[in-house]
Amino acid sequence: MERTQTYRCDGCGSEYRVRGESQPKVVCRDCDHEATLCGTAAAQRAYHIGYTRYREARRQLSDALATAEDGETTLARGGFDGAASDFEASVDQFTTVVREAEAETLAESSERARKKATCLWQAAEWLSGMTYASEQGETAQAGTYRQDAENRLRAAKEYGTVSSPEELLQPEELEAQSEA
Ligand SMILES: [Zn+2]
Repeated sequence: MERTQTYRCDGCGSEYRVRGESQPKVVCRDCDHEATLCGTAAAQRAYHIGYTRYREARRQLSDALATAEDGETTLARGGFDGAASDFEASVDQFTTVVREAEAETLAESSERARKKATCLWQAAEWLSGMTYASEQGETAQAGTYRQDAENRLRAAKEYGTVSSPEELLQPEELEAQSEA
């Protein structure tokens, strides 16, 4: 079965249905701007990228937490900064999913993922601030940042686990497997 994908003009918003070819260049007939992938295909692609960046951010965050516990504040700060920028990138992708998703389950899961990643992004920023403050000998300030970070980490827990694309995007296939 050939897949149809929808492209939307970045200039005027006209939509084009494209069949076959996986990544064609689509130029708008009305205004000559390039059209970009939208709808379900765009949502699924954004979820894949968002999830990958999110996992990478989580890995960096827990490594940096361990490094900070060991007292290596400068090294830890690099990790917190890296985590913050990957969380930010994942939030961008999840925002695209929420906008483009046509299936309600995908939109809802992505909205939760977006909120969770936002909490963790803020936590990583506070933790980076904490390492800086403690290097400057500002212990009280570092304590405040740490407290703020812990509050965000706790808030993040309330959004549950971010589903993998495999869990989220092919429910029919997974059901078929569990029945077999
Ligand atoms: Zn156009």
